[in-house]
Amino acid sequence: MFESLSDRLGGVFERLRGRGALNEGDVRAAMREVRIALLEADVALPVVRDFVEKATEQAIGQSVLKSVTPGQQVVKIVNDALIEMLGAEAVDLELDVTPPAVVMMVGLQGSGKTTTTAKIAKRLTEQKRKKVMMASLDVNRPAAQEQLATLGTQAKVATLPIVAGQQPVDIARRALQSARLQGYDVLILDTAGRLHVDQALMDEMKAVADIAKPDEILLVVDALTGQDAVNVAQNFSEQVPLTGVVLTRMDGDARGGAALSMRAVTGKPIKFVGVAEKLDGLETFHPQRVAGRILG
Ligand code: GDP
Repeated sequence: MFESLSDRLGGVFERLRGRGALNEGDVRAAMREVRIALLEADVALPVVRDFVEKATEQAIGQSVLKSVTPGQQVVKIVNDALIEMLGAEAVDLELDVTPPAVVMMVGLQGSGKTTTTAKIAKRLTEQKRKKVMMASLDVNRPAAQEQLATLGTQAKVATLPIVAGQQPVDIARRALQSARLQGYDVLILDTAGRLHVDQALMDEMKAVADIAKPDEILLVVDALTGQDAVNVAQNFSEQVPLTGVVLTRMDGDARGGAALSMRAVTGKPIKFVGVAEKLDGLETFHPQRVAGRILG
């Protein structure tokens, strides 16, 4: 489907064999190919510009290694720079606080927020042996609260009982109180989404954050939405203090460029990626794998 970066660069460097160092002209020619590869992988344009500039600086003047071709060498420089930009290490949730630790999920409707809430709850229950409660604060979308309850049953995770007509801030208060009284380790709040970012959504989110004082605020973004995902991340990160990002639908055919943009735009690590609809379809984010996918 896509030509890999290694293949592209092979051509650019054909004529370069036997020289002592990567010179500026050759590197710039190679970086034009890198730029195209990143844009095809859906990395946002300002992020591409920034990245290419940094990688170019690193590459110019490096001695040409004997063991690899110059093309392979540039691919390695670009790959290392991508990993560095994505955050070299996987970053876990920081829930080491006086219980209940509160995780607040935010994002647009349809991004996979409710599913991801249940996936994280299941993971914490099964892998970390935490006692987890989930609560849906989504009073806008019909049956959103019931959807979370159904997922809770599937995941064998408790959900806050539904009280009809209650508003998000009051649900958050009730959830906190229940979690404290019943000795839960972690409370995950699934907030309402909207089809687009709007002020009502942001105000509601901020009001909930004021009450719940979350230890983690995770933005859920659909990897398939490409450039839109970048705008969404920008908007949310300006309004609430995000602690991390979850990129869903990485099982689709997105090249993963959104991952690079997320990190650059929010300054926060991607903590998980969604890789299937089913509740086990959540993985820790591995920068190396995503870098490989972006480069093709
Ligand atoms: P919300 O409106 O943000 O709460 O979105 P939902 O959690 O209801 O998810 C919307 C749809 O996306 C559902 O059909 C989910 O099963 C699906 N979904 C969520 N995450 C993933 C994922 O990582 N991969 C795939 N293939 N589907 C997902």
